[in-house]
This record gives sequence, structure tokens and C-alpha cells, in this order.
Amino acid sequence: MHTKSLSELSTSLHNGEISSVELTQHYLDRINAHNTELNAYITVSEDHALQQAQLADQRLQQKTAGKLTGIPLAHKDIFCTKGIRTSCASKMLDSFISPYDATVVEKINDAGMVTLGKTNMDEFAMGSSNETSFYGNVKNPWDNNKVPGGSSGGSAAAVAANLAPIATGTDTGGSIRQPASLCNLTGLKPTYGRISRYGMIAFASSLDQAGPMAKSAEDAALLLNEMAGFDQRDSTSVDREVPDYTASLNDSLNGLKIGLPKEYFGEGLDADVAKTVEEAIKSYESLGATIKEITLPNTHLAVPTYYVVAPAECSSNLSRMDGVRFGHRCDDPKDLLDLYQRSRGEGFGDEVKRRIMTGTYALSAGYYDAYYLKAQQCRRLISDDFQQAFNDVDVIMGPTAPTTAFNLGDKTDDPVSMYLADIYTISTNLAGLPGMSIPAGFVDSLPVGLQLIGNYFDESRLLNVAHQYQRQTDWHKQIPNAYK
Ligand code: GLN
Repeated sequence: MHTKSLSELSTSLHNGEISSVELTQHYLDRINAHNTELNAYITVSEDHALQQAQLADQRLQQKTAGKLTGIPLAHKDIFCTKGIRTSCASKMLDSFISPYDATVVEKINDAGMVTLGKTNMDEFAMGSSNETSFYGNVKNPWDNNKVPGGSSGGSAAAVAANLAPIATGTDTGGSIRQPASLCNLTGLKPTYGRISRYGMIAFASSLDQAGPMAKSAEDAALLLNEMAGFDQRDSTSVDREVPDYTASLNDSLNGLKIGLPKEYFGEGLDADVAKTVEEAIKSYESLGATIKEITLPNTHLAVPTYYVVAPAECSSNLSRMDGVRFGHRCDDPKDLLDLYQRSRGEGFGDEVKRRIMTGTYALSAGYYDAYYLKAQQCRRLISDDFQQAFNDVDVIMGPTAPTTAFNLGDKTDDPVSMYLADIYTISTNLAGLPGMSIPAGFVDSLPVGLQLIGNYFDESRLLNVAHQYQRQTDWHKQIPNAYK
């Protein structure tokens, strides 16, 4: 049952072959059996899930159910969920229960889906390996000695190990696409503004975007249909019609122009990963596409630019975690300053503190022009590169990550080497463009992701391009042996 697509599950639910309560229980049993080893979920919301499943079954019986009604899913623990703890994988919010649902959660609830629980992640979404979580690291279902990627590592591991049919994630610099790549999933980061950020705990507000983490492009399209749309409560959400993302999945790729940025195939890219990705791209020729080398000359600025912009924004966003308005409060403060210092000192982990300090520094009076302003200028150059490229091509392709999943602990002492795990994904966030990772093969039994980057609001095209590849290949259908 847990290897079915969302469409297949939907058919079974609508036919009455299975009830939502049975399906939900099946996943809860799998979580019970496997979560101790994988640590993919921080919170399992069993009672809440079974209640939602009962309501879904009523809708199914009354024929008022939608396509996804009764299908369970997992939410990254960055989305506020009314009545279920939302920790952002931080000690700071260890006991935080949100009084409201994030817009994404509300929309998915309205669709009748069932929340199995909240998935593990890097603390406040800062990391690329899920090792900065207050609740401990997550294991990659393909090899328990490897990281699942991050920051949406729990969502990735949960879906890859069939502990959820699909999950939500967020991507500030690669956190949907990189774990999707490392765990053999289809992950989509939409255009900035496509999905509401209301109720999604902010890391870097100008970069954060939610998206689906799925087992196929078709599943991702179905969930995106429910997630996308304008929201008055998020001033950066875009008031633009939401198409049916499944409608164009089967469009022909004849005449599609694919661009390969030469900067994405240079130094730092593992040779076997490069070969796998190149072969995948080559196969698009048989689908009628043409391939052309392009250049994104400012790519080398992406990581340094991101590591000024993202920390600057996070230092401001996280100031609300002060033990008064939000977050952990230290015992017996002797005065206000002591309360702030100890609450924040005790509540945040090392990586979060590092980012707050870097960000505060970059924003401080004497350095603002030299760092923050300069980074914003570089950001514009990076966006302009993409617009230049999209004059000639429809979609850009390359690797999602420079390597396959690395060993747990390998990069924890070297933040800069960890930051380089997102070298190919960060630029799209800086530009606000949609990006996707799809399974493209294996190197030494570990998954490799192919990245697709589209122009603004071109999610339908990315999903179409991904789906056509998935009709020809079965990489995305591979499941780790231990979780079949
Ligand atoms: N790995 C990047 C970081 O640590 C991106 C994280 C993300 O996309 N949330 O900031």
C-alpha cells in the first residue's frame, strides 16, 4: 500500500477499497516500526491524524471529497500547526504549540489530507545535513551511515522510507532540492511568492519558499495544486491564478531548449555524479529537446552572497526568540539583560548562533555598505545572469548537489564545506526562480539528483519536463531495501 502513487491512493479511497483510517493506521504503524532508527519525525500526531482520517472518511462517503482527501502526509516542523507542537528543531521552541495553522497547513487540511506528524530538520532550517537539529540527526534510508541532506532531511527520509506518501518542505538555499537529491525524491521549490509563507517560521524571508517533497512529479503537482495561491496574510505572496499543475504533465517536449551552465560542471563536482547527470540530460534529446551550453558567469558569487543575505535576515527574524515574546526562558533571571542573554544562549544551537552573529555584523552601521549592500548588488547580477540565459533556453539543467549523501559527522566541524553542499541550488533562491530535483540514477548505490531550473512561474513546465523523464525511467521508483 505504501508504494502507491497519490493518484492510486486516491482511487482506492474513492472506490472504498480502503478507508482513510486504515491507510493512516498503516503509516502510523510504519512510523512506529522505523522512526526510532531514522529519527525522521520529531512529533507523531497519532490522535489528531486518526480524527482527521475519520472526517475524511465521512467526506468520502458523502461524496464531498477532493482528490487528496484522506491521504496522509507529513509536515516539516517549520510550519505552524494548531494544537501540535512546532519546534523548528530548536530547544528554543521545544514546547511551542502554535495557536493557529500556517496557510499551507490550513489549505492542506481543507483538502482533507491527514497530518501524520512533524518532521525533523536542521535547527531553524540552517544546515545541509539535518545535523544541527536539537532532536538529533536523521539517517538516510539508503544508508544509515549517511546524512539525508537538509534542512528538510526529516521530510526526505520519511518519504524515502515510506513513512509518509508525501511531505512538505521549505527551501531557502536548497533545503527541498538537496535532500530530495540525496534521498531519491522529486522535490520542487516554486517561484518566490507562489506559496504563502504565513505561519512558516521565518529563516530568511526574501529567500524562503515552501514546496512538495514527493515520489514523482505527478505527486508533486497534485500537492502543489493545494499549496499554491495568493494569501492576504503574506505581503510577498503573488496574486496570480493557480493553474492545474497536472494539466500539462503530458505535453510534448518537442523543441524544448535546455541550457547547461558550464559553471555547474566544473571543479568540485564529483566525477561520477557529473557522468550520471550528463547521461540523464542526454536522454532528453530522444524526447525532442535540444541541448546548449550556456553561462551563468556570476555563479561563483552565489555562496558568499547567500551567506551575507541569509544570516542578515535571520538575525532580524530570530530576534523575537527572546524568552519574552517567544521561546525558551531561562530560570531565575536576575535582570532583563540576563534574561535575554541566558534564554538565547541556552535556546539556540551553535550554527544558529553563528548565523545570528554573522548577520548582525553584516547589518551593523559601519559594515552595512561593505557587506549587506554589496551582497544585494551581487544578488542582482546573479538574477540578471538567469534572465540573460532564459532569452535562449526554456529550462536550465545541472546537478542538484556536488556529491551523493556524505557520512554523518563528515562536515560538522567545517561550516564552509557544509555551505558548499548548496553551491548549485542557492542561486535560484537569490533570483527567486523555481527549481526542482528529480532522481537521475545511482553512484555506489546512492541516489543522484538532476536539477531543473525554470523561469518565474514556470512550475508547470518543470513538472512536465520531470514527468516526461519519469515516464521513460524508473529511478524515481527505486526504494531502499529496508523500507520496501
Ligand atoms: N543549507 C543552506 C543553509 O544552511 C540552505 C538551507 C535552507 O534552504 N533552508 O542555509
